[in-house]
Amino acid sequence: MNMAKPIYSLVIPIYNEEETLPELHRRLSELMERLDAETEIIMVDDGSSDQSFQIMSDISRRDKRFKIIQLSRNFGHQTAITAGMDSATGEAVIIMDADLQDPPEVALDMIARWREGYEVVYGARDEREGESVFKKATAAVFYRTLRKLTDLDIPLDVGDFRLVDRKAMDVFNTMREHSRYVRGMFSWIGFKQTGVKYKRSSRFAGSTKYPLKKMLKLAMDGVISFSTAPLRLALNAGFFIAAISFLAGTWAIFVKLFGSGVIPGWTSILVVVSFMNGVQLILIGLLGEYIGRIYEEVKGRPLYIVKASRGFPENSISEE
Ligand code: UDP
Ligand code: MG
Repeated sequence: MNMAKPIYSLVIPIYNEEETLPELHRRLSELMERLDAETEIIMVDDGSSDQSFQIMSDISRRDKRFKIIQLSRNFGHQTAITAGMDSATGEAVIIMDADLQDPPEVALDMIARWREGYEVVYGARDEREGESVFKKATAAVFYRTLRKLTDLDIPLDVGDFRLVDRKAMDVFNTMREHSRYVRGMFSWIGFKQTGVKYKRSSRFAGSTKYPLKKMLKLAMDGVISFSTAPLRLALNAGFFIAAISFLAGTWAIFVKLFGSGVIPGWTSILVVVSFMNGVQLILIGLLGEYIGRIYEEVKGRPLYIVKASRGFPENSISEE
């Protein structure tokens, strides 16, 4: 079956989503009925260990609008969507999660704004359903802190659910850094941007594929890749502590010269030394974070490795 070049590309990262895939397929088919132009759906299997790839391959075999990319291992959500965006050919690329937390129907609102001339239309979470108080609170604090730390106008409570115009997409695709904080990178490129509000529903099935560890890594990538403020923090802390040590030193000399023979206690030494050690370790660690990232970038490895693909033009010979 030959297909016209798609106008819309939907990019969906998949990591162990076998429980949601059938429902996702149903909702996407419904959405495509309502779309006014040719659509392709690119699902990126981010090294799933369950049946996700088999299910996706089945879907793609039956419906050529579904294209599948299988990565050689779990590269993480941000890299998975990058792989999908690299292969998308549509005029408008829409990135959404597989678990239906980003309701596919919101794409219609995004497309309406795109038709008005906006080049990036992001989904702004109005409400979050079925997420822990902890996740909501940490997310709220994180987005607000990041905004203060960076010079970028990163919109609040915005994830990776967004529509991107071809022009902006081509620019974005040239950015090959390894520590990827995709939503920040989209703010950085500029263009005409706007948001549509939506209600983030709860996960359709299964549990989050973003445990605390991955969330912390994403937060670190966000801060370290978009801000050198932590380094400035080191400098400021250094000045502050130096000032305190100077006062303490002056006081110690004063007591020694004019005091009535007090033996300086080990307590104060212990406190000062351990405190300074702590501060030094924090600051060295902070430097390490940046240096580690420089090392990652300098290696210049590919961002991801594709193991297999289904449904792309180049697959048509090998399949069946
Ligand atoms: N995901 C991925 N690789 C990962 C973790 C997650 O591709 O290493 C996908 C996952 O399948 C889902 C999306 O990224 O489509 C968002 O993940 P999840 O819903 O688990 O995150 P949460 O909504 O809980 O933050
Ligand atoms: Mg989710």
